[in-house]
Amino acid sequence: MPKYPVVIVGAGIAGLVSAFALAARGLEVTLLERSAAPGGKMRQIGIGGSKVDSGPTVFTMRWVFDELFAAAGKKFSDHVRLLPLDTLARHAWDGNDRLDLFADESRSVEAIGDFAGAAEAARYRSFCRDTRRIYDILETPFLRAPQPSMSGLLGAGGFRGLVQLPQIKPFSSMWSALARYFHDPRLRQLFGRYATYCGSSPFKAPATLMLIAHVEREGVWSIDGGIHGLARALAGSAEALGATIRYNAEAAEVLTSKERACGVRLASGERIEADAVIMNADIAAVSGGLFGINARRAAAAIPPSARSLSALTWSLVAKTGGFPLRRHNVFFSRDYAAEFDDIFSGDRLPRDPTVYVCAQDRDDDAGAEPAEEKLLVLINAPANGDRHSFGTAEVEQCAQRTFGMLERCGLRIHRRPETTEVTTPTDFNRLFPATGGALYGRSSHGWTATFRRPGARTRIPGFYLAGGSTHPGPGVPMAALSGRSAAACLMQDLDSIRRSPKTAMPGGMSMR
Ligand SMILES: Cc1cc2nc3c(=O)[nH]c(=O)nc-3n(C[C@H](O)[C@H](O)[C@H](O)COP(=O)(O)OP(=O)(O)OC[C@H]3O[C@@H](n4cnc5c(N)ncnc54)[C@H](O)[C@@H]3O)c2cc1C
Repeated sequence: MPKYPVVIVGAGIAGLVSAFALAARGLEVTLLERSAAPGGKMRQIGIGGSKVDSGPTVFTMRWVFDELFAAAGKKFSDHVRLLPLDTLARHAWDGNDRLDLFADESRSVEAIGDFAGAAEAARYRSFCRDTRRIYDILETPFLRAPQPSMSGLLGAGGFRGLVQLPQIKPFSSMWSALARYFHDPRLRQLFGRYATYCGSSPFKAPATLMLIAHVEREGVWSIDGGIHGLARALAGSAEALGATIRYNAEAAEVLTSKERACGVRLASGERIEADAVIMNADIAAVSGGLFGINARRAAAAIPPSARSLSALTWSLVAKTGGFPLRRHNVFFSRDYAAEFDDIFSGDRLPRDPTVYVCAQDRDDDAGAEPAEEKLLVLINAPANGDRHSFGTAEVEQCAQRTFGMLERCGLRIHRRPETTEVTTPTDFNRLFPATGGALYGRSSHGWTATFRRPGARTRIPGFYLAGGSTHPGPGVPMAALSGRSAAACLMQDLDSIRRSPKTAMPGGMSMR
């Protein structure tokens, strides 16, 4: 078989998955990454002698990776060591209110019963049943499909199925749907937070996003070596299959010839010819012209008002005390509506933030208190990093509020400047250009927003999109699905060209 050279821009999870899948099919893959390591948002920051995961930390939907490796005749667990967590997360509010959720549904029911009463626990059971149903309805026609398609959903009876769920109105907001399940405002807040996994406000996201609660219930794993280890394992496996990965290699233009993608020009001036190009950079960079005027046509612009959340993070190694941390911990603000109002309407850091703390040396076992431990502390922030510069005073003021609220919930973190690394929306905008620091592409506000994410094929033959800003959406497994879709579309188009060499359809491969 001829080699069919393919260039992939970006070694985020989607780019890595595409590289792995295409190398496994025997294509000649070159993966270009502008930074010095794979993973993109799945980055690790070196602090002292420790490596702190400073992007995603909650790993779900492992079946995506099981299937990917199986399709290449390999076993995922031979390459990445996973540990299932019994406790999904520990949640806390001011004072002593605490609630753990577990992978075992009946344990969560019991915990919710103790926390908020038997009636609320019974309503949680209905919530579990309905979120499972939403997931089942949407998995094949939506999550696994290469393009978001209303007709695909209708064809599979998706909307009919959703409408039949008594508590859910597919066109209503997640927040109002949650009010039909939970009478306790703390539980509405807890389950509403899942909207932020898509970078959205629970007050504006559609009710269908409640399916994320089901995804998490299906399992959360910790990864040996941190989640960045997954990126390294994929990069190593893709290379073992013959892919070439070039780090510190910045793509500056997607080359086209006769309206078809035919390669990439690097910032260094070097040109690499290819039969197809997969783009894993954010679509805001594509539509913003960072890859040339021809590539711009591949993606519609995302106006700043439609951007998803950014974040302000502290990656640190520190001594903690006063609170029995689990691996994943959430400390809730007193006024959730005000928090999202600050971010999405006020365009400012929340005055009273909800704080996520990942204690990376901990699993289920409480064990002995570590002397110092690796932590990621994260709050949601507006994606205005391209028009606002977060100065030291503003960041320190926010740190006072953030770490102060943790203290109100009982957690003391002995933060030292020399072992703390801060990342602001401005930094995220630098790492992921043209996004303003938005970490999840377009926000999922309104029920049609998910249909506006571009699919893998573009209107430029031979040019494909993959990543968290494309369909089916953000999050490590979802972006991985998009990488798999881009590879599958490319292979399909290649097969159709092999059968009929003169055919070149929109989004299909070019033959030079
Ligand atoms: C702080 C934080 C917390 C998160 N928490 C979670 C979580 O707990 N669970 C979860 O599932 N998800 C989480 N996410 C979301 C998840 O990390 C992302 O959705 C996913 O990793 C995005 O992958 P991607 O394929 O879009 O690539 P990205 O990670 O966006 O990577 C794109 C890559 O392209 C490269 N690139 C860009 N331009 C060029 C160029 N011109 N030339 C060459 N290379 C280029 C970039 O350097 C980068 O490596 C989190 C994200 C962040 C930032």
